[in-house]
Amino acid sequence: MGRMKEMLAEYDFDPMTVIEAKCPLCGHESTVEVETLAYLRWQNGTYLQDAFPTLSPAERETVKLGFCLPCQDALFSPPEDEPEED
Ligand SMILES: [Zn+2]
Repeated sequence: MGRMKEMLAEYDFDPMTVIEAKCPLCGHESTVEVETLAYLRWQNGTYLQDAFPTLSPAERETVKLGFCLPCQDALFSPPEDEPEED
């Protein structure tokens, strides 16, 4: 990655990139701030978890699919115990 860093150093680029994601369920717009170099790696095919090892799983989910945190809770948390009825 050294070469890319040198290449980018010639430009006045922002070291951080803000990813904006709109939740497909509720429309809430989330933002996740990531390193620009990591973002570029991801854009070039690096796996999300390899490109952004410091993000929480929830933040990665926001980056990938846009779901906001409350919707992720609703989607991915185990369902409440419901009494089974026959
Ligand atoms: Zn949402």
